[in-house]
Amino acid sequence: MKQLTLTLGHLYGSLMNVYGDNGNILALEKRSAWRGIKLIVKEVSIGDKIKPNQFDLFFFGGGQDQSQQIIGKDLTSSLKGQTLIDEIKRGVPLLAVCGGYQLLGEYYRPQNGPKIGGLGLLPVFTNASLERMIGNLVISSQFGDLVGFENHSGKTYLKKSAIPLGTVQTGFGNNGEDQTEGCIYENAIGCYMHGSLLPKNPKLADWLLSKALEVKYAESIALEPLDDSIENQAHDAAIQKFKLTKN
Ligand code: GLN
Repeated sequence: MKQLTLTLGHLYGSLMNVYGDNGNILALEKRSAWRGIKLIVKEVSIGDKIKPNQFDLFFFGGGQDQSQQIIGKDLTSSLKGQTLIDEIKRGVPLLAVCGGYQLLGEYYRPQNGPKIGGLGLLPVFTNASLERMIGNLVISSQFGDLVGFENHSGKTYLKKSAIPLGTVQTGFGNNGEDQTEGCIYENAIGCYMHGSLLPKNPKLADWLLSKALEVKYAESIALEPLDDSIENQAHDAAIQKFKLTKN
């Protein structure tokens, strides 16, 4: 059997990891290694280029307004941004959380400082609010129930063409007003779910890996099933606990 290899582009990993989102990278590394798939992780940071076909999936974590100001400029003033859009349009999967999610929309207007232009990949826009939306977040989605933790002041609104990742069961989600959470476009997902998200939502982790393999090898490659009993226990316990509590 051929050695399957995937290269993950970690967008601004050292700047956008304030909320422990690098745990998502660890989950993808482990779930690949347990199947004999080689996952290579490379950071794409300020001034770095993205070449077409260089990466098979992307991750973009959360961070503070100050980092978003710097990154917003880098993302939108270089060829990198357009290449990232082209890669997503050809089906390369991506997961963006919170601050990363906000920067993939049209703009993020922070509480202080100038409006930050976003990549415009996702048909959403974000305005900071006076309240911070913090707490456990449970949504229903095409991946079943997903559970995470949110911590944001930004309220994200979907434009007409936008498809939400899911519907809020517990928590605030995109804005605490319209019961939507996140946005999905092609195989790119933006959401507010820290946690880290993937360790206790294994279905979503495997969806990202499957899509990456499918696009890279131009064939559907079935992932060997794993014993997810511990992951599912964590997932189900969190859902049970948090679904009962309303923010
Ligand atoms: N700075 C943004 C906000 O407060 C994003 C925060 C985050 O990434 N958790 O909404």
